[in-house]
Formats: sequence, C-alpha cells, structure tokens
Amino acid sequence: MKAVGFREHGGLDKLQVLDVPKPEVGDRDVLIRVRACALNHLDLWVREGLPGLKLAMPHIPGADVAGEVAAVGTDVSYPEVGVRVAVNPGLFCGECEWCAQGEQPLCPEFKILGEHVAGGYAEYVKVPARNCVELPTDFDYVEAAAAPLVFETAWRMLITRARIRPGETVLVLGAGSGVSTAAIQIAKHAGCTVFATSRSAEKLRRAKEIGADVLINSSEMEFDRAVWELTAKRGVDVVVDHVGPATFPKSLRCLTRGGRLVFCGATSGPEATFDLRRSFYRGHSILGSTMSSQKEFEDVMALVFRRKLKPVVDRAYPLESARDAQERLAKAEQFGKIVLTVA
Ligand SMILES: [Zn+2]
Repeated sequence: MKAVGFREHGGLDKLQVLDVPKPEVGDRDVLIRVRACALNHLDLWVREGLPGLKLAMPHIPGADVAGEVAAVGTDVSYPEVGVRVAVNPGLFCGECEWCAQGEQPLCPEFKILGEHVAGGYAEYVKVPARNCVELPTDFDYVEAAAAPLVFETAWRMLITRARIRPGETVLVLGAGSGVSTAAIQIAKHAGCTVFATSRSAEKLRRAKEIGADVLINSSEMEFDRAVWELTAKRGVDVVVDHVGPATFPKSLRCLTRGGRLVFCGATSGPEATFDLRRSFYRGHSILGSTMSSQKEFEDVMALVFRRKLKPVVDRAYPLESARDAQERLAKAEQFGKIVLTVA
C-alpha cells in the first residue's frame, strides 16, 4: 500500500512516500481504508524524535483517521466491513485498574495511534474495533477526521477536569490551534463566556465566528493584563493552556479565586516557574489532562455528529503532499485542522 512516513527522525525532508505492506489485523482489530487523516502537532514531534520514543522504521504518523472498514479480526462483531467510521486515537489495555474505572488515558499502557504505532498517513491502518464510532450517512470524511483528537482532548479538559458550569468565564489561549477551536465551542456550548487570545487579528476574527465572546490580541497587550482589565480585576474561572512555561505563570495570574488552570501540553518547554503562595491562598486548581476516555470520545463525537460542535478544517491536502501540510502546521499558519485526503 501507499503511505507517507520516515525512515529516520529529522526535518520535513525526512517525510517520503513509501510502499509498505498492508497492516495485518489482530483478532480484535479492524482494518480501515483511510479516506482522511488530520494532522496534529504530535506528528511534528514524532518526526523530529521524542525522548524515550523508540519506533520501528519506517514509521507512519497520523492519529486522526476516518474511512471505511475493509476487514475485521476474528473476534470482531462490530463494526462490520463497509461501515464508515472515525477512530478514537487513544489506545489502551482495557484490563488495568484505570481502564476498569473507564479512565483509559491513565492506563500505563496508553498509546496514541501514529505516535507509538503506525498511523493514518496511509491507504490502510489497523485499529482496535472498540475505538471506532460510526459516521452518520451524510457526514464527510474530512470533517470526521478533523474532530477526534482535539475534541476529545478539549472535552475532557473542560467537562471532566475543570467541570465548567453555565455562566462561568473561560479563557482559551492560542485561538488558532485545533484544541483551542474545539475548546471555544465546547465552553460556549456549556453556557460559558469565552475569552480567546491570539497574536493574529485574522485568527481572532475566526475565533469570534465559532463562539468566542471576548477577543485579546496578545501581540498588543500581555494577555494576563488584558484579562485583569476586562474583568475589573476579578479574573476568569478557567484557563485552557497548552503552551507551557511561556504562558503558565500568566495563566495563573488570570485566575479568579477558586479558579482552575487545565493544561494538556507544554509546547514551549518542560519546566515552569510560578508563585506558589498566590495559588494556594486563592485556592487555585492546576489540572493536567491528556486525550480522553472512550466514553468521553463517544459523548463529544455524538455532539459533533449532531452538528452542535463543528470541526474547523483549515485546508485539505492529498496524502502525497503531507510534507507541505506539515510545513504549514509547523509555521502555525493554520486556523483549525489540516487534513490529508487519501484517494
Ligand atoms: Zn489499561
């Protein structure tokens, strides 16, 4: 089959079109004929190499897959061959104490499709049957592939971890990212007032279109100062951060008393410095979060399928142009998801 991947870690030039064998399905797997696969920042890090990540080469990236079932393992009764599906990219053992509690992202065996195992930059990918959800008949593959990772991540952050309530104020950093476009919509859907930041006026305009109420251009003013002024020195109830040390101390300064900072990444580095005294005195919660449980994935995808939440597609590229697609993502030019289509 045709795929795009790399034989060694490195820059964009390491990505190449490959001719590799079709994956062989295990008893509980399905083989999916990929029709669309969305990019994530994770794809760039995996290509460049992550500490402790040892991959079989060549490696095929791609976490967010939509397509139709082409073959099934011997123990699989559903989905059947021909069913159109989207896939939860979080892979889990299903047997440990955390999986038994339905907290699959805490599974010690937790893996992500395309990070630890071969992903969706290909004509075919194998995934566990239990990770699939069926697409409504009129639902497009490109939109379906744009949803899973960012919507499940934002859903767990806001609904499960930060427990947002109607009437609360939620600050979402970096409005153009996939997680942010999902978080803005989920917070709005939950009845919150949404603040969004970006350095780009154009991205802020798009953020407003998908539900952001208060726009902060962080190239004009530090966002913590802006929040302090816009809330008459109260602060916001919840901050959604995925940036890390570059924003973490400011995010904490944006929080009101009893506020929650929920974060799902540390793009700008591993260590942050902040004043502990301010956070304990004001009763702040600092909540780590990653990916979602299968239940959370199914809950948020049901809202996507009912059009209550809308995947934001920046641009689609054919699979063969994966390098151009990754370059656009690396330059942070996008608003929403960049998607590969597989003919
Ligand atoms: Zn487990």
